[in-house]
Amino acid sequence: MAQKRLAILGSTGSIGTQALAIVDAHPQLFSVEILSAHSNAALLIEQAGKYQPNAVVVTDAKAYETVKQALSGSNVKVFEGHNALNEVVQWDTVDFVLGAIVGYAGLHSTLSAIEAGKTIGLANKETLVVAGELVMQKAAEKRVPIIPVDSEHSAIFQCLAGERMDTIEKIILTASGGPFLGKKPNFLVNVKKAHALQHPNWSMGAKISIDSATLMNKGLEMIEAKWLFGLQNEQIEVVIHPQSIVHSLVQFTDGSIKAQMGLPDMKLPIQYAMAFPQRIQNDFPRFQFKNYGTLTFEDPDIKTFRNLQLATQAMYKSGNMPCVLNAANEVVVNAFINNKVGFLEMSDIIEQTMEQLPFIEKPNMEELIASDTEARAYAEQLLQNNDY
Ligand code: NAD
Ligand code: MG
Repeated sequence: MAQKRLAILGSTGSIGTQALAIVDAHPQLFSVEILSAHSNAALLIEQAGKYQPNAVVVTDAKAYETVKQALSGSNVKVFEGHNALNEVVQWDTVDFVLGAIVGYAGLHSTLSAIEAGKTIGLANKETLVVAGELVMQKAAEKRVPIIPVDSEHSAIFQCLAGERMDTIEKIILTASGGPFLGKKPNFLVNVKKAHALQHPNWSMGAKISIDSATLMNKGLEMIEAKWLFGLQNEQIEVVIHPQSIVHSLVQFTDGSIKAQMGLPDMKLPIQYAMAFPQRIQNDFPRFQFKNYGTLTFEDPDIKTFRNLQLATQAMYKSGNMPCVLNAANEVVVNAFINNKVGFLEMSDIIEQTMEQLPFIEKPNMEELIASDTEARAYAEQLLQNNDY
């Protein structure tokens, strides 16, 4: 395999740092061309020193000044802001772009990379939630492969190797259920962020950890899967699997089901995406059946975890509704992390935002950007008015 030159967007995050650990293990296969971060200047400076990328991009103004100064004597170019991000991903010296920014903030750089024909490793699921139809259209037009990094989608992608897409009957996304599996509203009404951040099986960034606790993450993943694999809404199912060993499944038109399994470790799907179409050897711990006497499966409790229901509604409604759902969710998750809203109230605000925003059936990119802005403003307003 020729050495791939990587742009790692969001290199200081949970996915970004694990991607760099894979580079460490396979320096002959990967080199680092671009790194980007928002506000973690210290870690970005350290990464720049170690990997000597051609350029780093910093999106937070204050952090930019710090990074710029620290790297002033080095060969590493330092740029500021999202426009710079959109430019560097298009450089000829970039082969592969890992989209590992969190949230809507990752949308435009991913699109820009697709526009330039770069292969994408996509962790940033919000890109497909907000603008899945437009993003996949652009990828098809530019013949750009989008390789999923999200573990469920990597599982489905791996199950589909050698299969025809028209033989998919349905896909089944597994969900651990998060830290509050089995809990009811009378318990959830009092939970705080520290508890919600403690995921039983995965160690992840703050936003996705809260989304896992509310099951919004699984809702976002349904929408992500719909666009990634070109599915009808009815072909997408969710099952709770608390052990997180079966990473997802595909059922084919003859009733046969394929599953992809392994220990819950994001390094595996990240490595798979980075190396695709190769599979490369590693020394990650292996799953052993004897250590897991039982693997269990149950239906999600959508009455309690209403975000999954809201996301399903947004998926069926389509148009700008998933974008509105995502924007309201980003606002309430941020508020929850800052102790400004209760766990259950997050769903109320998302629901009201979805009800109030004008529906657009076939939004273009400008309309999606406007919907995102309006939904954020509306959700913020609700937060303030209701004094949660
Ligand atoms: P994180 O919070 O750990 O890291 C986010 C990265 O994005 C950081 O490098 C940060 O500097 C950068 N960033 C944050 N806000 C930004 C902004 N406004 N502009 C530009 N850059 C910004 O997040 P994470 O857990 O690594 O998740 C990244 C993405 O991958 C998310 O979309 C998440 O849903 C997805 N994902 C993560 C995991 C996981 O295990 N962490 C698993 C599956 C999917
Ligand atoms: Mg996932």
